[in-house]
Amino acid sequence: MVLKHPVNRWLLLSRALRRSCPQCGSGGVFDTWFRMNERCPNCGLASDRVAGHFVGAVGFNTIFSFGILLIVLLLGTWAMFPDINVPVLLAMCFAAAVFTPLLFWPFSQSLWQAFDLGWRPAEESELDPRYTATLPGSQP
Ligand SMILES: [Zn+2]
Repeated sequence: MVLKHPVNRWLLLSRALRRSCPQCGSGGVFDTWFRMNERCPNCGLASDRVAGHFVGAVGFNTIFSFGILLIVLLLGTWAMFPDINVPVLLAMCFAAAVFTPLLFWPFSQSLWQAFDLGWRPAEESELDPRYTATLPGSQP
């Protein structure tokens, strides 16, 4: 029997939005702004649970960045209409296209991990035994 450790989905999301480990809520999950540690320093959950895991994070980042780009384009056009200053609008869109993916990347990683944990709760074998020993109902 495989023991799983499901976490409430809202808790997973709130932890991910704080760039914490969605499984245990621990900080220190990120080595740099752009790179997650291989494992959570508290619960031991791998940041890359299966091969190609972070293709989903890239997808999240792409969707969010294109959404922001669309909003900037529409709001910029609306604000300048009817005398649209194309160079200014292009500069705004360029800034959104460059900076949004860079700023959102760590959140897309932790959010993707949270979604994955919501669909496939962590199994006991994925977690550090010291973490699972402290969970309610666990045998010491
Ligand atoms: Zn953790």
